[in-house]
Amino acid sequence: MDVAFIGLGQMGSGMADNLVAAGHQVTVWNRDRAKAEPFAARGATIAADLAAAARAGTVMTMLAGDAAVEAVVFGEGGLLAAGPDLLHISCSTVSVDLTERLAVAHAAAGQRFVSAQVLGRPDVAAAGKLSVIAAGAAEDLDIAQPLFDAIGAGTQRVGDRPVMAAAVKIALNAGIPAIMQMLTEQFRIVAAHGIAADRMAALLLNVNYGNRLIGSYGPIIAGKRFEPAGFPMRLGRKDVGLALAAAGDADLPLTELIASRMDAIIAADGGEQDWSAIGQ
Ligand code: NAP
Repeated sequence: MDVAFIGLGQMGSGMADNLVAAGHQVTVWNRDRAKAEPFAARGATIAADLAAAARAGTVMTMLAGDAAVEAVVFGEGGLLAAGPDLLHISCSTVSVDLTERLAVAHAAAGQRFVSAQVLGRPDVAAAGKLSVIAAGAAEDLDIAQPLFDAIGAGTQRVGDRPVMAAAVKIALNAGIPAIMQMLTEQFRIVAAHGIAADRMAALLLNVNYGNRLIGSYGPIIAGKRFEPAGFPMRLGRKDVGLALAAAGDADLPLTELIASRMDAIIAADGGEQDWSAIGQ
């Protein structure tokens, strides 16, 4: 299908390449035109400006953040000026507020709008293996599906309002620094006893640590089923204390924060509920 791709940064360049490779008629535009030039030899058409790109009828954007998306959509000659029937597929990670404003503005212009958030780093984008989290009107998502298939390994539709995909993406990203901090602290605990971080990293993968935890605790936390406890808070607090002791002098700020939250819950008579109530 005809599609314009706007934003040829680390992520967008790989995504645009995969749209071309899948046989779509791709027009590209980038603020710094030098990043667009190589795409001519790779089978894409370079648009002179945003208005020319928008003539493709379907436009995917992959831009740095809110300000960049605002410039491309609301700015002079931007997507809103392209006239009715345009379908804007927004892949950038942006605020829920902007996503709501985009939905309203595109609708007022007689245009269609979906949010298609992507999971994966630039190497995953280049390999066409992103996970796509999409939300918007079902008929618009159906139109966009061949594009999702070209850039990704699978699509999850999470709702009929674009903001729903933005919210999922923001929530997923909020967890990543917490997991990175937790990994760092786990590596410190075992390093204090002679186990190298790369060995621990391999072990976590081998035991499928992350998925097992999400599989066990996701449904319990989602359903707030903290009683009867499979593992009570008081025993969880004992183990967190063991971790703090095992780390010696190593810095474990996240583990310390968790210990203090558990102490507060236990002090408020929550010691017998499941330790997955930590965040309540
Ligand atoms: P990037 O390499 O920094 O690319 C940013 C793109 O935005 C460039 O094409 C840049 O154009 C454009 N841009 C910035 N300000 C602009 C403006 N005012 N007007 C027009 N274009 C503008 O970033 P990226 O890593 O590809 O990330 C793009 C989006 O994907 C971000 O929202 C990011 O959070 C999200 N994301 C990133 C990853 C990742 O691992 N990198 C993973 C998933 C999602 P110029 O070339 O002219 O500067």
